[in-house]
Amino acid sequence: KNADAAMYLAKSRGRNNVQFYTVQLASQAFNQFTLEADLRQAVQRGELTLVFQPKVRIDSGELSGLEALLRWRHPTRGLLAPGEFIELAEDSGLIVPIGRWVMLAACRQIRAWRDAGRQVPRCAINLSLNQLASETLEIDLRHALASYGLSPQMLEVEITESALMTDTQRADRVMRRLHNLGIRISIDDFGTGYTSLSYLKRFPAQVLKIDRSFIGDLPADRDDAAITEAVVAVAHKLGLSVVAEGVETEAQWAFLRELGCDEAQGYLFGRPVPGEQLVERLPRRTPSTDL
Ligand code: C2E
Ligand code: CA
Ligand code: CA
Repeated sequence: KNADAAMYLAKSRGRNNVQFYTVQLASQAFNQFTLEADLRQAVQRGELTLVFQPKVRIDSGELSGLEALLRWRHPTRGLLAPGEFIELAEDSGLIVPIGRWVMLAACRQIRAWRDAGRQVPRCAINLSLNQLASETLEIDLRHALASYGLSPQMLEVEITESALMTDTQRADRVMRRLHNLGIRISIDDFGTGYTSLSYLKRFPAQVLKIDRSFIGDLPADRDDAAITEAVVAVAHKLGLSVVAEGVETEAQWAFLRELGCDEAQGYLFGRPVPGEQLVERLPRRTPSTDL
């Protein structure tokens, strides 16, 4: 069993390496094991919750979209960010029911904002690799939209560049179906994977999100500045809109505005907050804005 635990650690570090069993490893494995057991029940127990972060138009700073981000109110460990459980959810297959919950919860929130008389911009949800492989993805999305009487134009899906590149054929097929439904598709964490430009051209995405690792040291870091400028140029040539993520300073905003980036998201414009708190940021609906 101990050798097994060491082997799993080695595999999780990208194979091709050697790991020894330690007592610490055993407690870590136990931790993961109990966390997985807890996660199995999290949906039924109502422990999952969404927070929403604004995206803004880079020129005016006006609200242009939202991203729903998952949180887990763990009964003993407190509020957990996805970094602490998404991988586990993926490895265990739990991401499919959890993802289904995310779609429904996002649509329910959009409906609630609308019913409170607010205009709601398009809201993005994150999809991970195993959800792309799920046979029911399209049905689940349709079901969530229909349950709250929303059109597909209200939703966007964000898929990481690395997930797309893992199984390009499947990703292609699935994305085309979602695209035909009218759901906007955005490539997340762009710049961290190895997308070929020809693939990018064929792929039915409308948006590239430049990974935050390129934004953090702008405008001082010359390499990051050059990469960002190049990504914006290529994306625009291919007819894609560009979102910069992780924008935290005025200087970063000014630099990105100068480059002609389209939208920005980051602590400068708002942290992810529960739906009730975001409502003040949503403009009131008037008869002419009613869809
Ligand atoms: P992501 O899609 O790249 O989401 C953006 C992450 O950056 C969020 O972390 C957000 O809180 C954080 N962030 C936003 N603005 C700033 C900023 O200005 N500075 C810094 N330092 N960070 C900023 P979070 O919520 O912890 O999410 C982490 C990742 O978990 C997400 O990365 C996404 O890949 C994944 N994730 C979140 N929710 C879901 C979900 O419902 N389903 C799936 N499959 N994955 C999710
Ligand atoms: Ca995202
Ligand atoms: Ca991202």
